[in-house]
Amino acid sequence: MSSGVVVDQTVIEAFNDIKLKKRHAYVVMMIKDKKKIVVESLGDKLPLNCSQSRNEDIFKGMKKAFGNEPRYILFDFCFTRPNQTTAQKLAFISWELFPKNDNNNDDNRVTASNQFALPVLAYLMWTQHWPVTELRSIDREARKIICENGGKHPLSSTAMLYLPRDKGGRGLRSVQQEYKLTKIKSSIKLHQNSDPTMRLVQKFEERAIEKGFTSLIKEACKYTEELGTSLTLNYPNPSCSSHQAPNISISGKKVKGYLRKSVTEKLLEEVKCELWHRRFLCATWQDKDLSGDECFNWLRDWKSAPTHTITGLLELYEQLTPTRVYTKLKTGTSQGETTCKLSGGATETLTHVLAWCPALAQSKYLDRHNAVLKVLFFEVCKELELVDSVPPWYSLVSAKPVYESSDAQAYWDVPVCTDEVPIGKKMIYASSKDALKKCFTGLNTEFQCTDPAEFQHSELVKEMVQKDRV
Ligand SMILES: [Zn+2]
Repeated sequence: MSSGVVVDQTVIEAFNDIKLKKRHAYVVMMIKDKKKIVVESLGDKLPLNCSQSRNEDIFKGMKKAFGNEPRYILFDFCFTRPNQTTAQKLAFISWELFPKNDNNNDDNRVTASNQFALPVLAYLMWTQHWPVTELRSIDREARKIICENGGKHPLSSTAMLYLPRDKGGRGLRSVQQEYKLTKIKSSIKLHQNSDPTMRLVQKFEERAIEKGFTSLIKEACKYTEELGTSLTLNYPNPSCSSHQAPNISISGKKVKGYLRKSVTEKLLEEVKCELWHRRFLCATWQDKDLSGDECFNWLRDWKSAPTHTITGLLELYEQLTPTRVYTKLKTGTSQGETTCKLSGGATETLTHVLAWCPALAQSKYLDRHNAVLKVLFFEVCKELELVDSVPPWYSLVSAKPVYESSDAQAYWDVPVCTDEVPIGKKMIYASSKDALKKCFTGLNTEFQCTDPAEFQHSELVKEMVQKDRV
C-alpha cells in the first residue's frame, strides 16, 4: 500500500476466526503508530440463537470501549427478517473517521484522507486507466467538503492544501497527483522487471503507442514532463532526469523520493505565482534569518491543533483577513475607503494591522510585548536578587516600576534620561559587571554587557530600547 500502512498477521487470523469459525462477536482494529493495522480487542463468541436486541447490547458494550478514536470494526450482526427468522451478517465498519466533536483535530483529518481513503483508490491505480478529469473532480469535491466544514478559506490557494506541512501547507494528497505518480512508478517497474511475461506487457504498451492507442508508457512520460522531468525507459535500467540538470540521471530506489520532491517544488512554484497569497509565505521561505525548515514546525508537530486554529493562522499568511484593502481589491465586496479604520491614516493592509497601526501600538502591541518581556525581566531580577521568585509566564502579575538593592536597580516603564536623549523605559543596571553578564548569558539573549559604568550610555542600551519598541 502506498500509504505505508501494513496489516498485522493477528488481523488476518482474527478475520478467519470471525468469518469462518464464528469464534467472536466482533473484532476491533486500530492503526498503531500510523504504520500497522493491529487487533485491539476481540469480542466473546455470540450466544447461541442470539436475538437482535441481545446483539444490540453487545454492540453498545463494544462501542463504550473506545471514544472518538478512529477504528475498524468487524461485527457479526444478528437481525430479525420480516418473516421472523433470524439472520446473521458480518459487516465491516470504518468507525468515526470524521466525528463532529473537537477531539478530532486537523492532523487526524488529513491522516484519514491520506491513509484511509486514498489507498482504497491507490490500490486500483496500478491497473486501471482513469480519465484525469474524473480524478480532478474527486479532488475538487474533497476540497469543497473541506471548505464547507471550515477547514480551508474558500479563496485560499489550492496548492497550499497539498504542500507538505513543514512548508506551511496541509499535507493533503491529491488523488489526481497520486494517480500520475502511480503511472510513472508502474511504467518504471515494468521496465525493470526481467520476467518474460512482463517483457510482453512492455512490448504490448510500446505497440499501443505505435497504433495511437492509450498507453501506460505514453501517459507516464507525459506526467513526468509535467513535473519538469524527462523519463528514459530503457530496459532494465529506466531512469529520469530533471530538465534543469539533464546530465544527472536518477534511477532505482531514488526515483520515488525524487518524484515527491518534484511535486513539492511544483506546488511551491504555483504558490509563488499567486500574487495575493504568496506575499508572506514567500517572505518566510526566503528569509535567511528565519530557519525555513523550522518556521512551520508547529503545523507538523502540534498534532492536536484544532482545524479552526490552523485555518485562521494560514489565513493570516495568505492575507485573507478581511481588511479594507482585501475587501476592496481582492474580493470586490466593498468600494471606496482603504484607510485604516482604527488609525485613519495609512492603508488598512494586513501588515499594517499586524505591525504598524499606531492605534494598536498604544495598547494591544504593548500588552503582547510586555507579556513576553516580563518573563525575561523577572528572570534577570531574580538573578540579581531583586525578587525572590519568578512568576510563571501565564500569571497576570505585572512588574513594579522600580526594584532596587545595593548593587542593582531595575526599572519597568520608567522613563530614564541620559545626557543626550531620553531613552527607554525598561532598564536594568547592576554594579557588578560579572553579575549582569551572567544573567544575560544565562538567558541566552543577544545582549552582551560592557562596563556597567558605561552601560547606560552604550549602544547596547539603545539597542535594547529599540528592541523594546519593536
Ligand atoms: Zn491603523
